[in-house]
Amino acid sequence: MVQRRKVSPASPKDAAGELALLRLIRQRAGAHGRGGVRLGIGDDCALLRLKAGEEMAVTTDLSIAGRHFRLDWHPAESVGHRTLARGLSDLAAMGARPVAAFLSLGLPNELTLKQESRAWVERFYDGLLALANAYGVPLAGGDLAESPIAVADVVLTGAVPKGAAILRSGARAGDTLYVTGQLGGAAAELAALGADPKRFAGHTTATMISPHLYPQPRIAQGLWLRKRGLASAALDVSDGLSTDLAHLCEESGVAAEVDEAALPLSAGATLKMALHGGEDYELLFTAPAGAKIPRRIAGVPITGIGRIVPIRRGKPLVALIGGDSARALEAEGWQHFS
Ligand SMILES: [Mg+2]
Repeated sequence: MVQRRKVSPASPKDAAGELALLRLIRQRAGAHGRGGVRLGIGDDCALLRLKAGEEMAVTTDLSIAGRHFRLDWHPAESVGHRTLARGLSDLAAMGARPVAAFLSLGLPNELTLKQESRAWVERFYDGLLALANAYGVPLAGGDLAESPIAVADVVLTGAVPKGAAILRSGARAGDTLYVTGQLGGAAAELAALGADPKRFAGHTTATMISPHLYPQPRIAQGLWLRKRGLASAALDVSDGLSTDLAHLCEESGVAAEVDEAALPLSAGATLKMALHGGEDYELLFTAPAGAKIPRRIAGVPITGIGRIVPIRRGKPLVALIGGDSARALEAEGWQHFS
């Protein structure tokens, strides 16, 4: 749990700083009695409570400096936001209601020391807790240790009525393929960030429209689809449409056709970014052809981008249809910073 530090602090002054930090986290997390959290930070375990007839959804995501974020590119608030957003997006994909978040942090010592007015780690929590509050998910525990590189491991728990979670494996030939929001925005912003790392230094709050630094998990849209039982399958676009759609097809034992002209490209995004750029955190879902899918769900546009077809020998698993021609859409998803 967060209240315990596993390595010896460098000096008594640092120790006081660490304890103050842990107190602050505990205070700000304020998880006791919120949502499904019966007992939050402070004991050996958190205690979570589900409603009768629910099952628990659990997902973990590991974020590593140099691989998932760069200390010289991403404001600390963005790193905190993105860490939590990755987990929330997985809950959204299954139509789960967020219950509690758990966070283990490994940080080099300098990130816990005050620079100017706040330490990097405090700004990290600013970003993470702002998103947590916006989505009503309490931070109910975690751990903090010194580490040679910055790592953040988040665990999200959610609840879903028994048997009602939207799985990757439910797509059937004849279903229509949909996506929420726009695609390629995160890759376009990342390209701009790479060209000028200082460009987004002032982007320290999620009120800015910033698909890479502050992606919005589609919790409301996932819940909407699950409650109405309209989606036959879903997953979140974390690695890129080409890669994630291939996952959906493999799990469902089907193939898919994507209409190039139908793809909702983000402003500034190229087709390549929309197809292969990662971290858009939109939902990719399927629904039977007769299902009444609205144009917007909870304010976010929904676009039909293709269809599910049977697997045919000699045909690609995922085909991109442009005009009269079809070509294989190879999975070339997100490689992060490698
Ligand atoms: Mg996912």
